[in-house]
Amino acid sequence: MKINVPLLLIWALCLTNATISYAQLERINQTIDRLEAESHLRFLTADELKGRNTGTGELLIAGRYIAEQFRRSGLIPLGDAEGDYLQWAPLHTVKPPTVATVAMLGEEFRTGVSSVMVTGVNGTLEAPLVYLPDIEHYEPVGLQGKVVVTVLRDVRASARNQDQLKLLEEAGAVGLIQIFGPGQRIPWQLVLNYLNRERMSIGAIEAEEERGFPHIWVHDSTNVLVKQLKEQPDAVGSIHIEGIKKMKVDAFNVVGKIEGADPELKKEHIIMCAHYDHIGVQAGAGQDSIYNGARDNGIGTTGLINAAKYFGKYPPKRSIIIIALTGEEKGLLGSQYYVDNPKIPLEETVFAFNIDNSGYTDTEVVTLLDTNRTNIDELVYQAASEVGLGVIGDRLPGQNYYERSDQVSFAAKGVPAVNFKMAMAAFDERITKYYHQPSDEFDTVDLDYVHKYWKAYIRSAELIGNWAQRPYWMPGDKFEPAGKALYKME
Ligand SMILES: [Zn+2]
Repeated sequence: MKINVPLLLIWALCLTNATISYAQLERINQTIDRLEAESHLRFLTADELKGRNTGTGELLIAGRYIAEQFRRSGLIPLGDAEGDYLQWAPLHTVKPPTVATVAMLGEEFRTGVSSVMVTGVNGTLEAPLVYLPDIEHYEPVGLQGKVVVTVLRDVRASARNQDQLKLLEEAGAVGLIQIFGPGQRIPWQLVLNYLNRERMSIGAIEAEEERGFPHIWVHDSTNVLVKQLKEQPDAVGSIHIEGIKKMKVDAFNVVGKIEGADPELKKEHIIMCAHYDHIGVQAGAGQDSIYNGARDNGIGTTGLINAAKYFGKYPPKRSIIIIALTGEEKGLLGSQYYVDNPKIPLEETVFAFNIDNSGYTDTEVVTLLDTNRTNIDELVYQAASEVGLGVIGDRLPGQNYYERSDQVSFAAKGVPAVNFKMAMAAFDERITKYYHQPSDEFDTVDLDYVHKYWKAYIRSAELIGNWAQRPYWMPGDKFEPAGKALYKME
């Protein structure tokens, strides 16, 4: 019998690969002690931590606990203070103004009826108006001392877009009025309710006061404003705001690093992150008013602590930055702060591997949010299958989940990013029973599934960390242009 050498070689290689995989999974099994991992989850989601709301002392205690787990795993501290892991983020609460009116083109837009403040300070401003057809692309000339007026395109993106405001300010503009016209997907009333409540935002209060740049939306139900603006290029408008109250909030991200084992590849960093805040205590009809947030996101946070322990012992070739993020539930604030103030330059960060969970609909699979977005899918498939799980992609694309958690903060800067979630095949009663409910607690979680999920997360990160290829966006992805800009690629 003639021996087929190439086939034999392939068979031998496959066997070696399988053996390595098995050995590495066994190493994860040995390192991540089941009871120990559960004790982290029990602590973080205990009633005594009162639902880990941003701005509470209990969230700071949770953060300190995570920091000390990072320390015992040997992570290099990347906090603000020497030898510590805490990256303080300047956050504050804003009580909405009692008055926020705009007068222009012979019309008055009234507070809570036809106008709403997005950001701003108390005071009155009168200035010439200038109409910008496209706020994404314009020549920054002729804006000095003027209030820019533009049509609002994407409600969700615009409410958070600090970069746009900065650019307008740099061009000399003194305020921004955006026209909410007909044909928006979100009703005006919902926008009013959303923006006219107490909320949290990033930035020192003093700096904001000094800046004073008002950002207001006005409702143009009859769709006449753009025409009028074009007809009256010399129009002057005024903005009057009063009654805003701001209060400082103490909050921090927890950041540590594991140096990669390969002298070259260690210059590339992979971020593993999860938000550790939740929504606190809310008076409800039932007896239990504590929103423990086991799925959202105690499990993700514990996933980070497990990863710290494993990679602290067994670093992959690339370096790993582990970040427990604050303020996600208040609008992705911790991740936004981190990407604006990274501890390692973002251009040296090649991937962000986030965990954020609403719940799960199935214990046989995990959700990768999203597949076909980056080139790492096959590695996640392999890792999941090693622990006996399948992988599904975004089954609810209409819900826009990718853009509703911390991964999008990294993506917007160009860093390839995904969310590694417990299975979410539908948003039905299997999710709604626990999602942002007091019942999202330790005792209602399927621990066998959670252990597999934690291991699949670590194993995926290990495969990505050792991969011969570099993680990147799939060609044509929405965020690929930002990636090209960040990494200065052609
Ligand atoms: Zn969450």
